[in-house]
Amino acid sequence: MRENQVRHNRQRDTSSGGLRRTRALSLGLAVSIVAAGAAGCMASTQEEVAMGSQYAAEINRQLPIVTDPQVASYITVLGDSIARVADQRNLDWHFYVVDQAEVNAFAVPGGYIYINRGLIERSETMSELAGVLGHEIGHVTERHSMEQMAKSQQANLGLGITCILAPQICNSGLGSTAIQLGAGGVFAKFSRDDEREADRVAINFMVRAGIDPRGIPAMFRTLLAERQNKPGALDGMFSTHPLAEDRVADSEALIAQIDPVILKSLTTDTRAFQQFKARLKSLPPSPTPAQR
Ligand SMILES: [Zn+2]
Repeated sequence: MRENQVRHNRQRDTSSGGLRRTRALSLGLAVSIVAAGAAGCMASTQEEVAMGSQYAAEINRQLPIVTDPQVASYITVLGDSIARVADQRNLDWHFYVVDQAEVNAFAVPGGYIYINRGLIERSETMSELAGVLGHEIGHVTERHSMEQMAKSQQANLGLGITCILAPQICNSGLGSTAIQLGAGGVFAKFSRDDEREADRVAINFMVRAGIDPRGIPAMFRTLLAERQNKPGALDGMFSTHPLAEDRVADSEALIAQIDPVILKSLTTDTRAFQQFKARLKSLPPSPTPAQR
């Protein structure tokens, strides 16, 4: 009942593209994140969830979330199938498709995962999309997202998040804030160690969820090739998730250690995934920033 109500509110917020903001709450949140980061202490799961849910609610007001039930349901089912084996804290996970053509994905502490439409369009198989989900889930389970947010706020002295949460007090308008958010501009860059760890745990999660982890290096290859051909097209993704050729080699080396019999038994692609992609493609094109 409560969950239904939350979903209902979320949909209403998203569909109205609401501009309502609770400035006092937002600023209090920004300050508490800065404080947690400055103190160098790790927030409790309860604090993480409280902060993440407020932050996600604001993101959902600012970013165009795909509300098509078929699309929303598929990403939730696939995401949950991985989170179920990954999460030891019993978080309430939420998975969203963002209606943006740019390649990007990000994770908010507490279990909120966002995948851009542009990234899904580039996934050829279910396992490639599952790899991205597994990686983002890994940033949450390994608490990188929490550290990243604290670091980002320390670096910006809270200005970045204040601009997102209470843009009326910043010079930049809503439009540019939304773009900045979409491009991952307010998030600090993950370290290469964080990336390696998120890849490593994602491979483990995928195998346990019955999904072929070779989707991870396959997706990397696609993105690296596109970066070569169209420099700049993937800046959003790469600004927070550093990607170099060594992540392909590292992930392949880990996968090589898996029993080939097990590897062979895992699922690479499904009809449901291809139907989900076709459904997404059939929806009107992503709005440009000016149209939002
Ligand atoms: Zn990452």
